[in-house]
Amino acid sequence: MEELQVKELKPVFTHEQLQERVQALGKEISADYHDKKLCCVCILKGAIPFFSDLIRAIDHPQMVIDTLRASSYGNTDHSSGKVNFIKDVELDVTGLDVLLVEDVVDTGLTMHEIVRHMYAKGARSVKIAVCIDKKERRQVEVDIAYHAFTLEDGFIVGYGLDLGEHYRQLDGIFEVVLANR
Ligand code: IMP
Ligand code: MG
Repeated sequence: MEELQVKELKPVFTHEQLQERVQALGKEISADYHDKKLCCVCILKGAIPFFSDLIRAIDHPQMVIDTLRASSYGNTDHSSGKVNFIKDVELDVTGLDVLLVEDVVDTGLTMHEIVRHMYAKGARSVKIAVCIDKKERRQVEVDIAYHAFTLEDGFIVGYGLDLGEHYRQLDGIFEVVLANR
C-alpha cells in the first residue's frame, strides 16, 4: 500500500463553527422529533465527537442512543466501495424513528447500506444527520436530512475524521495536504 506523507493540515472548520452548527441542528432535531420515538445511532468511530455534542444539544426526554460500526475504507483516502458491518445496534429498533449520525458522507455507499439495514430491522423511519456532506464523489443518492456543513472536495481530518486512524482527536476539521501528490 502506498505510504501517505502528510505535508500540512489546513484549517477548514473551527471548533467554534462546529459547535454553533451542532447547537442549531440540535434545536431543529428537537422540534422535528418531539412526537417521535427518537433513536440516535452513532456510526463508529468517526461520528463519536459529533454524536456526543449533538445528542447533548437535542432536547428529547425519551431519546435512546446506540452505536453501529461499518467500514468501507482501508488505510488510504480511497473508498473500497464495499460496506462491512462490524458491529450492529443492540437495541430493538422496531417501530423507532432512527437518526443515523455520521461524520461524513462521501460516495454515499456506506449510508445507503446502513439506511437499508435499519429499515430491514424494522425501524419506522430512518434519517441521516451528518457533520460534513461531501458532494463531489457521490455515487448513490442518499437523502441527508441534517448536515452541519457541505464541502465540495478534499480529504479532511479531525473532529472524529481520520487518516489511517490518526487525527480523530482534533477539535476542528482540517484538510490534509499530502507531500507525494
Ligand atoms: P462513503 O464514501 O460515503 O461511503 O464514506 C465512507 C466513509 O469514508 C465515511 O464514513 C468516513 O469514515 C470515510 N471518509 C470519507 N471521506 C472522508 C474524509 O474526507 N476524511 C476522512 N474520512 C472520510
Ligand atoms: Mg465513518
